Amino acid sequence: MNINSERLARIFTEMCTIDSPSGEEERFARFLKNLVMQEFPEAIIAEDDSRTATGSNSNNLVIHFPGDLPGEPIFFNCHLDTVEPGRGIQVLRNDTRFTSAGDTILGGDDKAGIAILLEAVRAIKEARLPHLSFDLVFTTCEEIGLRGAKALDISLLRAKEGYALDSTGVDLLIIGAPAANHFHFTVTGAAAHAGLHPERGINAIQLAARCLADLRLGRLDEESTANIGRITGGKATNIIPESAVVEGEVRSHSSEKLAAYSQQIKDTVQAVIDNWQPELGAQLASGVRPRLDFHISQEYPAMHLARNAPVLQRVDKAAARLQREIRYERAGGGSDANIFNGKGLQTAIIGIGMDHVHSTEESIDLRDMTRTTELIVSILTA
Ligand SMILES: [Zn+2]
Repeated sequence: MNINSERLARIFTEMCTIDSPSGEEERFARFLKNLVMQEFPEAIIAEDDSRTATGSNSNNLVIHFPGDLPGEPIFFNCHLDTVEPGRGIQVLRNDTRFTSAGDTILGGDDKAGIAILLEAVRAIKEARLPHLSFDLVFTTCEEIGLRGAKALDISLLRAKEGYALDSTGVDLLIIGAPAANHFHFTVTGAAAHAGLHPERGINAIQLAARCLADLRLGRLDEESTANIGRITGGKATNIIPESAVVEGEVRSHSSEKLAAYSQQIKDTVQAVIDNWQPELGAQLASGVRPRLDFHISQEYPAMHLARNAPVLQRVDKAAARLQREIRYERAGGGSDANIFNGKGLQTAIIGIGMDHVHSTEESIDLRDMTRTTELIVSILTA
């Protein structure tokens, strides 16, 4: 197989230096469109109209490559956006390992995946290898709530199943990921001057604290977690706060448990508010008592692929041809693949070797990227 590691290194480095923080993917998307147009005139470039829904300056891209092997088309997905600090990235290379200069992320999440896909296509075309038809699906705003994937017009895809290249690990497939609910609630008390009329107030922050004290957080069982991540409220130390807003999340690989835990949190908080009693000596107008406004929304659905799913068997076969074995794992986080699976497109996540993502310590090894490129070529030419 004629994977050109140095060509892979060059395109990876070049792409990392094109800023594409979430919502500002346009320049990078244009770079990819131009590259594909110049090098692969047979490819059909489409984009959806997701900008309005995502708030990004770029739409999602779906690039179709017609193939000459019989068989259903497959797709490969990467996200165009990177987390902050991700502006003015300098790529350092030490032997085969890439890092940033230390003041930004590297952006290998997810540009390593895109570089791997481009090198796989280049290698296949160069060697004129017969291959399956495939779509490359590049999404925006993955890092800020999977917005691009959620807004993706899947009618642009010819493939019904495929792979997201977006995980740590090599020769690794992620076949399950939890579902997540986001919740936020507002506790409303009564404002009053803290020094002059404390008897007229109901302290919303203290009440929110009582609610939180009763919640189970952290790891709830072997496949579920809960967290409170943000509290806001209050105006000044001399005012009894009228409201407090609490935001959190629940995750579980089981949708039943997710629903049950979410309900449990709501019930626990509601019970604290319902059981509230005025302090001795309180001077509240009649009928004044605290209120609760509680909202739960789905952030993303769970993904769970059966071990014998064709989308996994295809990788097994491709790996066997390379005399490799693929490990299977479940992930703790959600990604575009959750959304794709939720839309009925069976999607496994392929590890691309990125490390310490979402930090200025992020790095990736060229040998791992080359290894994954070999796997992609094998999948496409099997
Ligand atoms: Zn990612």
